[in-house]
Amino acid sequence: MASRFKTQPDLKVYNTMTMQKEPFQTRIPGKVSMFVCGPTVQSYLHVGHARTYTFYDVVARYLSHLGFEVNFLMNVTDIDDKITQAAKAEGMDPIRLAERYTKAFLEDTDSLKIYTVTKYERVSNYVQETMRQISTLIASGNAYVADGTVYFNTATFPDFGKLSHLTTKELSLRPLELSVKKKHLLDFALWRPVILVEGRWDSPWGRGSPGWHIQDTAVTLTNFGPQYDVHGGGYELIYPHHEAEIAQGESLTKVKPLVKYWVHTGLVNIEGNKMSKSLGNVLSVRDALKQYGSDTLRLYLLSHHYRVDMDFQEKGLKQMHETYLALRAKAKIMEERRATKARRRDSGKVLAQFYAFLNDDFDTPQAIAFMMKLIEDGASEKDQNQVELYYEALRITSNILGVNFFGRLQ
Ligand SMILES: [Zn+2]
Repeated sequence: MASRFKTQPDLKVYNTMTMQKEPFQTRIPGKVSMFVCGPTVQSYLHVGHARTYTFYDVVARYLSHLGFEVNFLMNVTDIDDKITQAAKAEGMDPIRLAERYTKAFLEDTDSLKIYTVTKYERVSNYVQETMRQISTLIASGNAYVADGTVYFNTATFPDFGKLSHLTTKELSLRPLELSVKKKHLLDFALWRPVILVEGRWDSPWGRGSPGWHIQDTAVTLTNFGPQYDVHGGGYELIYPHHEAEIAQGESLTKVKPLVKYWVHTGLVNIEGNKMSKSLGNVLSVRDALKQYGSDTLRLYLLSHHYRVDMDFQEKGLKQMHETYLALRAKAKIMEERRATKARRRDSGKVLAQFYAFLNDDFDTPQAIAFMMKLIEDGASEKDQNQVELYYEALRITSNILGVNFFGRLQ
């Protein structure tokens, strides 16, 4: 199908790499390749994940609306120590546990109406590729073996730290795996032996498991080649995860930059506290959806700017649900009053401000406020033709934000 893409949109996106809002220009006009770090499937999805994935879903929906062909790739981390630990705690086989939570993850994203992901890739399908990449990095002198572990040699990559905007000295204050066998403090593991981790793969370096960072590099380079447009994830992943991805990718392909736009979302706290298992305040997507439904949850999450840490409050979610129910009633009035036989009118003018908000680095709080006002205005409008115009505009904003005001509650 031919792309609807005609002109370069007015969109500006904040890039963590340059620390600026930049005009959005993809490598291939009309096409976007976007990768977002997916979950480690050790338990049910929590509302922090929901916030991140819902945001990139809106990004993909909006880019599609603008006419881009969006190739949205998300990995599923089904190899990890945390999975092994969770499996032990539940007296279960790690593979089965990962399968169970992968299935739950896909159900939850579906319930959240995250329909834009083109492909979910389980990293366990990419272990052979991680081995190929690690061999290449050893051959090029970018990696070395020490006591059965393969490390990336950060001294061979002077750009290490460029995404965090920290010097190696500053990064040294936040050391990674401590090991006397490493050459440099910041070197990170590409392959870990079975004495350290639950490893079920035979490699040239013995039985073990690929490190977390190289798994994503195997997924992205295989699917996108040496460069792609957008890389997303929570900002807590910038260091070391995304720095490591850059070091691995750019050392493997010798092509810079690996990614054009680095887009990061803020953290989610719960009632003022960090979400953590030990505090027992981890709110699962399932529980939140059961009580309030996906439309309310999406409205609540998206009414916070994606780059700002948000405090998730039951009170706030409840309030949003009441607002949502009131808006549904008003949307119903619009639906009944609109002049369906009227000539289809262009809602572009009505929506100019809505687009301006999204073009300004995806300002969803403003876009949501706009959509709410659209319903208020539409419900109090007497002119049927005008109501039809608002109705049409609402249809478009609903599609982009993934929030529905008609039909059954969900
Ligand atoms: Zn990742």
